[in-house]
Order: sequence, then C-alpha cells, then structure tokens
Amino acid sequence: MAVLILGDIHANFSALEAVFDAAGPVDAVWCLGDTVGYGPQPNECVRWVREHSAATLVGNHDLGCLGTISLSNFNREARIANEWNGEQLTPEHREFLTSLTPMAQVNDEVTLAHGSPRDPVWEYLLDTEAAAASFGHFTTPLCFVGHTHQPVIYTGAEEDGECSATIPTDQLVLKLQSNKRYIINPGGVGQPRDGDARAAFALYDAENRTVTFRRAAYNIRRTQTLMLDNGLPEILAARLSFGL
Ligand code: ZN
Repeated sequence: MAVLILGDIHANFSALEAVFDAAGPVDAVWCLGDTVGYGPQPNECVRWVREHSAATLVGNHDLGCLGTISLSNFNREARIANEWNGEQLTPEHREFLTSLTPMAQVNDEVTLAHGSPRDPVWEYLLDTEAAAASFGHFTTPLCFVGHTHQPVIYTGAEEDGECSATIPTDQLVLKLQSNKRYIINPGGVGQPRDGDARAAFALYDAENRTVTFRRAAYNIRRTQTLMLDNGLPEILAARLSFGL
C-alpha cells in the first residue's frame, strides 16, 4: 500500500494540486492537520481532503479558524489569515473539521499527530530532546507529525531513550528498520519553512517499509495573487517565495 502523507496544506490549493500530480498513483492519502489557515483557498482544500484522505487530523490553525481555540494564540498576521479563513469556511466544511482529532492511530504500524504525540495540538518537535520525550506517547513503530513545516526523521532505538535526527533531502528513500521506531515530518505542503519553496510531502510504502521524501514545484505566484486579492497579509504571501 502506497500512502501519500500530507502536512500543513494551509489553504494553498495550487501546492496541493501540484503535490497530488507529482506523487503519482497512491492507494491512500493521510493528512496531518492544518488544512486551512494562512492561505487563500480553504474550502477548495477541505473539499479535496474530504474526498481523498482516509485519515485526517485537525491542527492548531484549523482550531483557530473554527474558533475552538482563541486567535490570541497566534501572531498578528496568522490571526488575520485565520479569521478570514474561518469566515470563508462553509458550514459543512466547519462541521467536518470540527469532527477531527489532533492525533490518531491508523493501524498497528502508524500513528499520526499534528504537533507531537506528547502534545498533538501545540508542541513543535524541533530537537532530539523533545522528540525523545514523545516516543513514550505512542505505541506503533512509526509516527508522522506536521506543525513545524520542516522535514525531519527522528529515530529512536528501542532499548534506550536515545534519539537521533536526520534532515532528509529531496528523493531520499528511508528504509525503516524493524528494531527502531521513528517520528517523521514530511515537511509542509502549503507553507514550507526549510528554505526550499517547493511543496514538501512523503510517500509511505507499507509493504516495503520505506518512506520517500519528495518536493514539488508549484505556481507560487498564483497562490500569492489570490492571497493579496483577498486582503491577506503581504508578508504571508512573500514568505512563500523563500520557503520560510
Ligand atoms: Zn501549520
């Protein structure tokens, strides 16, 4: 089974379409949350996710757009964008996002968490110390996370609490080892933050136990134009050019 793993789409439908094109045929799609917020096409993205994704999480920005968590938790630009995204969402799409959880175990092998298994709504896994503390909060060999918009592989050995981090490059194929556990971030689809402006995603091959890290170029200008046309903060449009 080939699974397309998507994180942090952030209402960037051009990026989402480019990723789906680049991924080729897959058997399933799993989404790590933050489908909306920041970007200009929240309803298009939620509609796509509802149609295609077999397992979908809710992220902190989704919850901000829904009003479930206070917008005071976000910086000024994110707040403006989340407020606008929230106003755009159709009642049906609001209901769908409201029904989701920030963490879910999809099968015996894989758990999904938006931020981290320890704190699925808010924690950013930015170092091995934080990642090591999360291995005790899920039971499967593999967990995919989003939230930081930066691709990373955290590897934990079974016998001790040690954890190492690897930054995957485009096209890297990780062979999962049976005596190790992993927390993996595929990077962000709609607002990459690792200095590469291309949309990031991963392909998980359950039979061969591999995870392939990929990037897809998309029409950034199109997303930026839609953002500015809708009065979203300029800085949020500008950052897409730099992958920051
Ligand atoms: Zn996000």
